[in-house]
Amino acid sequence: MSILTWLEPADDDTVAETLAQSFRQRFGVAPDGVWAAPGRVNLIGEHTDYNGGFALPLALPHRTYAAVRLRDDGVLRIASAQQPSSWEGRVEEVGPGRPQGWPAYVAGVVWALADRLPDGLGLDVLVDGHVPLGAGLSSSAALSCSVGVAVRDLVRGLAGLSDADLAAACVRAENEVAGAATGGMDQTVSLRAVDEHLLLIDARDHSVLPVAWTLPGHEVLVVDTRAHHSLADGQYAARRDTCERAATALGMGSLRELDPGRLEDADVRRALADVPDGMARVRHVVTENGRVLDLVGALQEQDAVLVGSLMTGSHESLRDDYEVSCRELDVAVTAALGAGALGARMTGGGFGGSAIALVDREDVELVAGAVAEAFADEGLTEPHFLEAAPSRPAGRVAPRPTG
Ligand code: ADP
Ligand code: MG
Repeated sequence: MSILTWLEPADDDTVAETLAQSFRQRFGVAPDGVWAAPGRVNLIGEHTDYNGGFALPLALPHRTYAAVRLRDDGVLRIASAQQPSSWEGRVEEVGPGRPQGWPAYVAGVVWALADRLPDGLGLDVLVDGHVPLGAGLSSSAALSCSVGVAVRDLVRGLAGLSDADLAAACVRAENEVAGAATGGMDQTVSLRAVDEHLLLIDARDHSVLPVAWTLPGHEVLVVDTRAHHSLADGQYAARRDTCERAATALGMGSLRELDPGRLEDADVRRALADVPDGMARVRHVVTENGRVLDLVGALQEQDAVLVGSLMTGSHESLRDDYEVSCRELDVAVTAALGAGALGARMTGGGFGGSAIALVDREDVELVAGAVAEAFADEGLTEPHFLEAAPSRPAGRVAPRPTG
């Protein structure tokens, strides 16, 4: 069998040291410090955020690192170890669509915080990402949040800015400056995660509740399928639109308000008859919210079998009712289950990205091997693997915080 590719998290101190050195070489001065923010994986609760529902993500041990130095001349200089292109400009030049490309995720944070920042503030930023880019594990939020926490730490007037307000600023950077649709889950978990916990997020009021990971004998195995289907953006917009129309047809502000017990009612069916695919999409959203809460209960009971079956139920609902899965995700899920995973599902928006499986710690290599073999048999690109131990939120890495 071929050798599997595992994406390991980086060691904070090692990255901080080499990144500070590269920063000095590039910019000719030392950074004020190095900060890091995690990517995330969503255990369950997919396509629920824009319906006022629940999600249950965890912060990955894989983080994006940002070496940052404040300037007082209004200049921004932005570079990345992962990208050949860099950007230099003035803070006043930043706005929707400017700069283009990846530097927007960095410059956008300064833009979103602008009215709280002192005049003339500028930044030198060099980032090094250890979250795979475009794998559905939120390297984009890890990038903007790593810069967000740096700016909050360095600017005296921002000391009182809450994690929730900083998350909102990072969402605006991504939505408005980078022009990428994001519902806010990614930034919330990157900034507000609790080590060794999942984060139950209620999209209705943005409240969060840490939920302990109670299955130490089990792991969440992540399969980065390395597939990115061009359908993703248009289909995401179409699903959002259908949900909005369904809620309107039901006379509700959001699908969160629909009682699961009413799904089969004649008046609900009648109201949704004129919304193409409305019934199936609504069934996914409503049952998915139920599965999130059931999974929280199953974790409290340390019932790994139930956790797994809820994950698999989520996948079936996303595949059959919401129709956002794809061949690579289905192959990963089927192969993982066939090799003994307790449950498996696609995670993220769909049409590529990553799948996850709940696996007995001793079976991790075996299950990953079975997935890799299934991909090879199907002629698919070799997948990559990560272990998703629920980890800590964004913060400063160097100089090490005291106390
Ligand atoms: P995901 O967030 O799932 O990884 P996105 O498409 O939302 O996928 O975000 C990926 C984009 O974020 C990249 O194409 C790039 O523009 C930007 N990005 C993420 N990490 C880095 C990095 N370390 N350096 C430069 N750009 C990055
Ligand atoms: Mg993203």
